[in-house]
Amino acid sequence: MKDFLIVGFGIAGLTFSNRLQQNNLSFDVISDSSQKSSRVAGGVLNPVALKRYKLAWNADSFLREAISFYKSITYPSTSDFEPVPIHKIFSSIQDQNDWMLASDNFQLSSFLNDELVINNPEISKNYKSGIVKHTFLLDLKNILERKESEFLKNSCFIKASFDYEKIDIQNNKITYQNNTYRYIVFCEGFGVVQNPYFNWLPIYGNKGEYIIFHAPDLNSNHTILKSKYFIIPVGNDCYKFGATYSRDNLNDIPTPKARSQLKENLSALLNCNFEIVDQIAGVRPTVSDRKPILGKHPKYQNMYVFNGFGSRGIISAPSLSKDLLLHITKNQTLDKDVDISRFLKFYL
Ligand SMILES: Cc1cc2nc3c(=O)[nH]c(=O)nc-3n(C[C@H](O)[C@H](O)[C@H](O)COP(=O)(O)OP(=O)(O)OC[C@H]3O[C@@H](n4cnc5c(N)ncnc54)[C@H](O)[C@@H]3O)c2cc1C
Repeated sequence: MKDFLIVGFGIAGLTFSNRLQQNNLSFDVISDSSQKSSRVAGGVLNPVALKRYKLAWNADSFLREAISFYKSITYPSTSDFEPVPIHKIFSSIQDQNDWMLASDNFQLSSFLNDELVINNPEISKNYKSGIVKHTFLLDLKNILERKESEFLKNSCFIKASFDYEKIDIQNNKITYQNNTYRYIVFCEGFGVVQNPYFNWLPIYGNKGEYIIFHAPDLNSNHTILKSKYFIIPVGNDCYKFGATYSRDNLNDIPTPKARSQLKENLSALLNCNFEIVDQIAGVRPTVSDRKPILGKHPKYQNMYVFNGFGSRGIISAPSLSKDLLLHITKNQTLDKDVDISRFLKFYL
């Protein structure tokens, strides 16, 4: 019997399986590619909400844990996880004043630089930019691919869709296709809506799309630019531009609507020429109160969920995977903000 079966291999499955490895616990992962959220994500680790200049929820402690986690899993290939500053391009004098006020706030002062910079000459805005410090860029797609190959080699990764009808749940074990496990943890992202054990949770899809463009004159290969959308360098003078938010067409098929919306915005923002070379989409698993959902199924003792990472999974999943494992193995209490028990009324 193995200790864990993990269903789903995005950021949730990746961080949780890594915690198991660190604790010498045995596991299998089963995942398909029905959801693409982690594979298309921008990979930006940014502790500040840049619309309102507020520290994101729990950002300080999440960031510390995330940095040490990603350093440990990307070592020695440092290019998958690098510090990259964000230059926030101000939209007005009022916006610039709001930044200056926020940079004086004791919580934000270590993240928002109060020395403003002149914009990249290829940006058509007349205002300056502020630099967000302690921000990182993670190549999550690459990391997931590398980890998947490692697990396939170790025969603990099954590339398949989980068949919920083939699971046999007993008091102290779970059987799935002739294998037995002590616990099962569901990490399916928006795929959770198909899961008969957890589809009562208030997890809603929010589709995000990027266009990928090539612009040799932009010269921003080591800086993330943020206006309404992010311009994220992906190498070779190519950049991701987005992402959009939409509750329609909840699948990973890029839409002409998002393409024209992004293209129009980018044309207005850049002075230089650019060529769109690709477009990608995924569905964020978002929760009504904007906090992830962790914890035990109300009926089954050995069944857990790790989901609801919304638009900030990269910063929060490393800390929360640690908390979930301690909750399962040492009965440590979960923070009530993320505990599944806050939604028990939907189950009952
Ligand atoms: C366009 C876009 C940009 C984003 N940018 C950022 C960013 O810059 N920074 C940030 O922090 N966050 C970002 N996010 C959000 C972040 O990507 C999500 O919070 C995160 O990816 C959710 O991860 P997950 O593991 O819960 O789900 P997913 O990544 O969706 O992974 C779930 C996995 O489970 C598999 N699965 C589902 N059902 C089954 C089943 N029945 N059987 C087998 N396998 C199954 C899926 O195929 C998938 O592989 C972005 C999201 C989008 C869409």
